Amino acid sequence: MQILVLNSGSSSIKYRLFDADRGGDTPTLTERATGTIERIGETASRTTSRIHRDGDVEELVDEQRVTDHADGFATLVATLEGAGVLTELVAIGHRVVHGGEEFVAPTVIDERVVERIRAQIPLAPLHNPANLTGIEVATALRPDVPQVAVFDTAFHATLPTRAYRYAIDDEVAQTHGIRRYGFHGTSHAYVARRAADHLGRDDLGLVTLHLGNGASAAAIDAGHSIDTSMGLSPLEGLVMGSRSGDIDPAVIFHLVRQAGMGLDEVDELLNRRSGLLGLCGDNDLRVIEERAEQGDQAAASALDVYAYRIRKYVGAYAAALGRLDAVVFTAGVGENSPTMRARVVEGLGLLGVSLAPDRNLAADVRTTPDGVVALHPDDAPVAVLAIATDEEREIATQSLTAIGA
Ligand code: ADP
Repeated sequence: MQILVLNSGSSSIKYRLFDADRGGDTPTLTERATGTIERIGETASRTTSRIHRDGDVEELVDEQRVTDHADGFATLVATLEGAGVLTELVAIGHRVVHGGEEFVAPTVIDERVVERIRAQIPLAPLHNPANLTGIEVATALRPDVPQVAVFDTAFHATLPTRAYRYAIDDEVAQTHGIRRYGFHGTSHAYVARRAADHLGRDDLGLVTLHLGNGASAAAIDAGHSIDTSMGLSPLEGLVMGSRSGDIDPAVIFHLVRQAGMGLDEVDELLNRRSGLLGLCGDNDLRVIEERAEQGDQAAASALDVYAYRIRKYVGAYAAALGRLDAVVFTAGVGENSPTMRARVVEGLGLLGVSLAPDRNLAADVRTTPDGVVALHPDDAPVAVLAIATDEEREIATQSLTAIGA
């Protein structure tokens, strides 16, 4: 059987096709094809696919214009059928950013579910509409295949009240759904399970650090998320590529009242012109690390602010868990930057967290067969792991569970 995973953005569709074998308790997933359709609706689109066949990878590039998402989905199905790799599709799994309070698990999609996802749009105006479009076009073209929505927020549905509540007027909070939801749930869930497999224990107290363009931390108690750094939206928490993360809400009032900025302007400032970009003018950590190495003060300071925020969260989450068995680094920065991992861990010795410098430097998660590399000294009380995240694989696994496969 096969499962197709779709991540629909406003002008792109990313996809992955997996073969699933029914061998054991949990199906083993093997990637069969992966690809991206970019610049949908623009004059020049680009469809790239990588097809696995008998140990080889075939790369296909198509520059034909893709007019809309329906055209995009039809193109990708035609590409996969043309390559002869789409044979026994049993489900299509869709990434959906915001499930609100309603969706706490992967959900098989029907008309009512579509309406309920639509109702969450005010909570995720940038993401949910594109995710919904993906669902609609896939359902229209393949009504024969069950479609499953997998929500970024769902893994954090186990947050206790004390962690998800903002201390604001209760009626306002209830009426408008103002609470912490958390995001990157599929990634935190995936790496937490990999950590448990690697360490051979399912009762771990974990802090997982998803450090990509967006970044978030989670405190995970025996596989359940008990706190996370993103909130109502993905703006809260860690310093990100271009988002500020935690900020005094009064900064917004100040900018509106004193600096005469409009609300949309402040929104744009905090979401697109802040974080690393705001601090030093770049948002690519590789570039910033190079600049800092060459003595650039703004870059060095940006790295310091970024690492310090993460370190504070590790400390806070160790306190929330009441114990700490492992710290997990994942996503672009977490998997690939030994220097940032070292900066974060510096000063965490009081919690028993330390790195073996040679292991940290040599770690290459993408070439390690199980995608997990231990970075701590052998006698360390707390494990530090770099783990290659795989959100699409997690969406595929959860979708298969949802259809009972
Ligand atoms: P997204 O959230 O867009 O999926 P990624 O998880 O790919 O993002 O992470 C992107 C970030 O990872 C960028 O800031 C990039 O600079 C950083 N990154 C990728 N490779 C490296 C590397 N070798 N060293 C340092 N940072 C890296």
